[in-house]
Amino acid sequence: MSQLIDPFGCRISYLRVSVTDRCNYRCQYCMAENMTFLPKSDLLTLEELERICSAFIVRGVNKIRLTGGEPLVRRNVMTLFHSLGKYIESGHLKELTLTTNGSQLAKYAHELIDCGVKRINVSLDSLNDKKFESITRWGKLDDVLNGLSVAKDAGLEIKINAVALKNFNENEVNDMISWCGKEGFDLTFIETMPMGEIDGDRMDQYLPLSILANRIREKWTLEESSYQTGGPASYSLIKETGKRIGFITPLTHNFCESCNRVRLTCTGILYMCLGQNDKKDLLTPIRRSKDNDLLMEAIDEAIGRKPKGHDFIIDRIGAAPAVARHMSVTGG
Ligand code: SF4
Repeated sequence: MSQLIDPFGCRISYLRVSVTDRCNYRCQYCMAENMTFLPKSDLLTLEELERICSAFIVRGVNKIRLTGGEPLVRRNVMTLFHSLGKYIESGHLKELTLTTNGSQLAKYAHELIDCGVKRINVSLDSLNDKKFESITRWGKLDDVLNGLSVAKDAGLEIKINAVALKNFNENEVNDMISWCGKEGFDLTFIETMPMGEIDGDRMDQYLPLSILANRIREKWTLEESSYQTGGPASYSLIKETGKRIGFITPLTHNFCESCNRVRLTCTGILYMCLGQNDKKDLLTPIRRSKDNDLLMEAIDEAIGRKPKGHDFIIDRIGAAPAVARHMSVTGG
């Protein structure tokens, strides 16, 4: 079947799938403490998730990332990893990966390896246990450190994703770089994104990465790196540690020109761009018909509408989120 090419000539090869909006943490920049989650009946079943992923694989997607919420808290999620792992074995999928908060890694790291997962992204914003508890509200740093250690020993390559937050972790940056270097982890800093209502004001948290990068350059030697993922991150190599450092600046750059990815929510909605509200329902076509003709039609129509740029902007105090849905629904 034909490949998925967007109106700007980009081939869509990467699908990110949020398998649940739920999480065992309540990170302050991500969720309100008192979150109302989707009723379970609104979620795609694991079989439906697999069916949609398979359709994208048939159309040339060769990388799938499972996200959440926290993907590893969805009941029986490993059956989905096992089904998708078969495409790794057959060579149709080059990469199967996940973004996780790390809390469940001690339990699942070895099984993830069995499913063909090689690399994972772990969200971790502070190495200070009190700060970690305060930003995640419900998290325990030791669970994550333990999970990371099991994952590393199991052979998973790890990238740490840290959200840069003003007056929170900006002074920990050098410690995080040293620690990642020692552990053999890459590290990416991410600007806060204006997605979904939270309890506080995002301008209080917003720390432009240009400022952070300048501070990092005072202590570390950043060498240019040609490493590209087709996503919004720009990467450098830290000479002193030999590990990569990435910066994701969704608020200060329109990063979409070379975007190769689309996102599927746990409710079957396809978002062609993380930062826009345009979407396509894939749930109805799969529930309406047992074969995939309607699904393929819907996917083609959606990719034909993939936009050129996104609408994120935090330009005034108290600005409403540019995108109303929570990151935990679409996946990061
Ligand atoms: S940022 Fe990640 S770990 Fe934190 S509440 Fe959101 S989904 Fe959970």
